[in-house]
Amino acid sequence: MTSSLRNLPSVERVLASEPLKSLSSEYGHHWVADAVRESVQEARARALNGGDVASFQEIANRAAERVRGMGRIQPRPVINATGVIIHTNLGRAPLSAEAVAAMNAAAAGYSNLEIDLESGRRGSRQGHLQRLLNHLTGAEASLLVNNNAAGVLLGLSAVAAGKEVIVSRGEAVEIGGGFRIPDVLEQSGARLVEVGTTNRTYARDYEAAITENTGALLKVHASNFKIVGFTHAPEITELVELGRRYGVPVLHDVGSGCLMDTRPFGLSYEPRPQDSVRGGADLVFFSVDKLLGGPQGGIVVGSKDKVGLLAKHPLARAFRIDKMSLAATTATLLHYVKEEALQAIPVWRMISATSEELRERATRWAESVGGDATVQPAKSTIGGGSLPGESLDSWALCIWGQDVPGGATGLAARLREQSTPVVARIENERVLMDPRTVLPEQDGQLLAATQTALREI
Ligand SMILES: *Cc1c(COP(=O)(O)O)cnc(C)c1O
Repeated sequence: MTSSLRNLPSVERVLASEPLKSLSSEYGHHWVADAVRESVQEARARALNGGDVASFQEIANRAAERVRGMGRIQPRPVINATGVIIHTNLGRAPLSAEAVAAMNAAAAGYSNLEIDLESGRRGSRQGHLQRLLNHLTGAEASLLVNNNAAGVLLGLSAVAAGKEVIVSRGEAVEIGGGFRIPDVLEQSGARLVEVGTTNRTYARDYEAAITENTGALLKVHASNFKIVGFTHAPEITELVELGRRYGVPVLHDVGSGCLMDTRPFGLSYEPRPQDSVRGGADLVFFSVDKLLGGPQGGIVVGSKDKVGLLAKHPLARAFRIDKMSLAATTATLLHYVKEEALQAIPVWRMISATSEELRERATRWAESVGGDATVQPAKSTIGGGSLPGESLDSWALCIWGQDVPGGATGLAARLREQSTPVVARIENERVLMDPRTVLPEQDGQLLAATQTALREI
């Protein structure tokens, strides 16, 4: 064993060989030297554990891979062929061309972020955006922060710190990674008062819990699960009626920020911010990067005095939106103002794509891939905490695992290793690729990646 360890090359020798020598001039000596040291150590550890002693070339190749890997920009673009439209692990909503352009322009140079160009004096960073938001939702006032979790925490902190917040037992839930209503409430300094039962809660349950210490009634949209059967939850209007009667503000976390009607697409109703505003909620919270189709962000709309409390709260500064997201959100909202959301916003193009269009696209893919590729009916989903349990009819390119080396899992893994990785879905030993979530300009890359992955054994 000691003799085989002696065969391991020195860090200096590997560094002096190609491709490490050229990589040093590109990435800097220290970075490359670290990568070589790690590769040699890894080979030593493997040999000490009774494994094979890596060859000089293997160690050099591993080190070169490490260097190139570290030099990559993360996150890398991938092709989403899963059919899940708002895929949180894949970065949620892709932006419209106009939103990308707006973001680039804000990033690449200076902007009038906080200067009024007419007077030359300090201006408001969000004034223009707020006018668009108020127009679209019917609210008196609005505020954009870093994400919806920040918006809800800010809202509770500004309105209900030190007081009790009444929540239905069925809505004191966890949504997405680490957003738990009881924890957010505690962090805000408010006390959670749970009422009703997991499946049925009535307005009278809220009413019975109202005291002089009540700071707010909070309604939370169950956006990533569904309770079916014997259920009841009061409408926002019932809570508003109650809130008005007792002088208690009503807060509504609607989740996905869906400004469009989902029902024409065969989906059930997804709560819309404008409906809550019309229903009289004092504050309505939603994400920008779910069904709204914009960059990461959280929007709060509502009455002037309540939104004013949020804007003045010290946390508002900590949750302040950056100029690039502000620009992209503005561009995204303009698509709704101009009534072109279905054509311009990628998530709405995906939702509104017809099953027939998708079948044609999947068929073209199958013809181009050839071999054993077929086309079969599939279900796309909205994902990302919107419309749980619901799906859209689609068609997918289908490759049977039994026809390829390594089976379906092996092929899916090779698809993820391509220069533009493809993330596909595995169902019953088949690899499925749903065109609904693949941007049309990515068709060529998807086909090239699939052909290469099928050739690799
Ligand atoms: C997604 C979601 C959140 C969290 O929103 P982020 O923008 O991810 O912070 C909070 N509440 C509801 C109801 C949601 O659906």
